[in-house]
Amino acid sequence: MRSLRDTLTGKPRVVSGFVDDAFEPPRGAVLDVRDPATGEIIAQLHESDAAEVDAAVMSARRAFDTGPWRKATVDERQRVLMRIHDAILAHADELAEMESINTGIPIRQTRGMHVPRAAYNFRFFAEYIGQSAGEVYTQEPGYLTMVLREPLGVCALIGPWNVPLGLTSMKLASALAFGNSCVVKPSELTPLTVARLFEIMQGCGLPPGQVNLVNGRGHVTGAALSGHPQIDMVSFTGGTETGAAILGALAGGIKGGAMELGGKSANIIFDDCDFDRALDGALMGVYANNGQMCLAGARIFVQRGIAERFIDAFTARTCAIRVGDPLDPQTELGPMINAAQSERIAHYVAVGQEEGARLLAGGKPHPGFDAGNFVEPTAMLVNDNAARLCQEEIFAPFATLQVFDSEEEVVALANDSRFGLAGYIWTGNLGRAHRVAGAMRTGTVWINTPMVRDLRSAFGGYRESGLGREGGRGCEAMYTEQKTVILPLEERPIPALGRLS
Ligand code: NAD
Repeated sequence: MRSLRDTLTGKPRVVSGFVDDAFEPPRGAVLDVRDPATGEIIAQLHESDAAEVDAAVMSARRAFDTGPWRKATVDERQRVLMRIHDAILAHADELAEMESINTGIPIRQTRGMHVPRAAYNFRFFAEYIGQSAGEVYTQEPGYLTMVLREPLGVCALIGPWNVPLGLTSMKLASALAFGNSCVVKPSELTPLTVARLFEIMQGCGLPPGQVNLVNGRGHVTGAALSGHPQIDMVSFTGGTETGAAILGALAGGIKGGAMELGGKSANIIFDDCDFDRALDGALMGVYANNGQMCLAGARIFVQRGIAERFIDAFTARTCAIRVGDPLDPQTELGPMINAAQSERIAHYVAVGQEEGARLLAGGKPHPGFDAGNFVEPTAMLVNDNAARLCQEEIFAPFATLQVFDSEEEVVALANDSRFGLAGYIWTGNLGRAHRVAGAMRTGTVWINTPMVRDLRSAFGGYRESGLGREGGRGCEAMYTEQKTVILPLEERPIPALGRLS
């Protein structure tokens, strides 16, 4: 049997939008989508122009204003969400393979985490809406004051290329669970699995127009979508500069947006940590997902007492990481999404060397491959947190290591960043762990563990890492309007204006 990669390479898949319950006939500009491991074209993406975006938004608008979904019972919505959950799991092998071919993320991670998470997103929000509640206030004598939640309307869901299905399914599952209509725009670099999800969702019971898909570049399709007057919000995951542009487009209509943006997270390793676990965690924290991870612990701070031993061990393990075909289950680091991303490694090594940083490992394209965007995982020793290496998001398998002496010093260094997405602490001292977690200006802190995500909890960034929170209650706040309804429990006097004359 031909592999999916051979099939896609032999006959690139045609990917087009899904508008008003039908896949759009191919039209508009055609963009090549490439397999980052081979450089081969695997899909031809038909870019949605402003007219197609308008049709998609108006389809979602009609579905919201006149369709059945926002008024559907919780039971009905749960049934549909669970059918989507089951359908994703039934296609899990195919989706994982497709995601690895399109993104270069190792199959161990797409099959082991991303695809199961995509399915779980639908199950989680199906269960969540079965338990969510409004508020009732009784303190005002004689009145019952109720705060109810209603769906927000038409949600524009714009995703990045680094975890296409996992992140976009989170937005889609939560927006739908709370009764909204959606227009989804995946990254133009990685449209395959989200388009496949739209095929898989057929027959799961969503009403016509409830979900729409547009594809294309940010300045064409993304800008037309986020600037469309008939959307009610944008849920965006991507770069900080893009997030700022989208917020600008929303400001005129006094609309909100949920922004999950960039990061440059600190990983603090104290002398008293469990050395081996901290080492494993630091490697995972920066090199998982090919290092292309918003919450990467890319700035590693090591306390002086163990610094030499830790840096030597980290360097040796970095050099031993298995770089290879993302479809090989043994691969630990696949290719970068495109040539521009892989060139960032050498670029930042040069920047670092100018700034006085020392190269510990990697630093160049991986020599073992004739094609594809393979790079060596890279680590540099830096002595100044003001260096560009420590301040700019590289978004690649690139670690900086710095040595520190005291708790106060490392907290100040960790917080010396425009970003504030995540942080990691490794220590055997529980009091210190809590103190430092409290002092870190970030949305999430992991203590003695690499990233673990409980969907019930809030996820999002301080400062330029974002606005709003995803997760159970965070998504409920993001995708609903609150409405206060006041009911008198007895006849209360009303000032009788106009009766005096
Ligand atoms: P990006 O900002 O370049 O693109 C993200 C999406 O926005 C794409 O679909 C793109 O087409 C679209 N877009 C671009 N310009 C637009 C515009 N003017 N209007 C509307 N849409 C536009 O980001 P990327 O390179 O795809 O992803 C990498 C970035 O995403 C990194 O900065 C990373 O930290 C961030 N990220 C954040 C999180 C998080 O949860 N905080 C998660 C994953 C990735």
